[in-house]
Amino acid sequence: MNKRKLIVGNWKMNGSLAANESLVRELLAGIGQPRCEVAVCPPGIYLAQLQALLAGSPIELGVQNVSTHEVGAFTGDVSAEMLKDFGVRYAIVGHSERRQHQAESDVHVAIKAKRALAAGITPIVCVGETLREREEGMTDFIVKRQLAAVIHLNGHCSSEIVVAYEPVWAIGTGQTATPEQAQQVHAVLRAQLKGVTEHADRVRILYGGSMNAANAAELLAQPDIDGGLIGGASLKAADFLKIVGAAA
Ligand code: PGA
Repeated sequence: MNKRKLIVGNWKMNGSLAANESLVRELLAGIGQPRCEVAVCPPGIYLAQLQALLAGSPIELGVQNVSTHEVGAFTGDVSAEMLKDFGVRYAIVGHSERRQHQAESDVHVAIKAKRALAAGITPIVCVGETLREREEGMTDFIVKRQLAAVIHLNGHCSSEIVVAYEPVWAIGTGQTATPEQAQQVHAVLRAQLKGVTEHADRVRILYGGSMNAANAAELLAQPDIDGGLIGGASLKAADFLKIVGAAA
């Protein structure tokens, strides 16, 4: 089936008004007509700036988080509807850094996905095992448990999500999963989706974790790898553009 790959830059807590502007200008100067879909997820405070910079371009806007709540007395939170106001198309939910540092549970992540979907934003649901879990042979169990929570709460809407397999041991470490290791887990996730939706082949499953200009093509050539979630390498325009170019 015809499914365009998706390359997403996760800028994490990096950037400034000046740095964002020069990064985006470099990206726009080099991106041309990409064959894949492309999005960047800046820190939320810069959404208005990025919305203006990206207007009319082939790069879509994403965010790194969304509130579990709809509206009201939730100091510091930003709702999915508010994000939608700024043209946000994608919301990363359940990144392992938030699971670890903000104690986000599978249930929080599932609710965030639901809020995003309700606002017309596509959640990018991150799943992935720690090194210890991998060594204990728990990888499949962990990623399936994390995805199951989202499927359980979102039912048939689960075909509208993007999934990102991000082994925790590969994030920001320079230690990428091999294409075979990644494909193996992606196939497990695809099979799980097939159990709940006839549209499982339509769901894009991204790989994330030290994906870079040198290893992207090989990873993206795997049958169940439908794109990438890029951290470090998304902060350098030349590297990010090479990854975009590798996603035919
Ligand atoms: P990395 O981060 O590419 O720097 O490993 C990926 C991510 O955390 O999404």
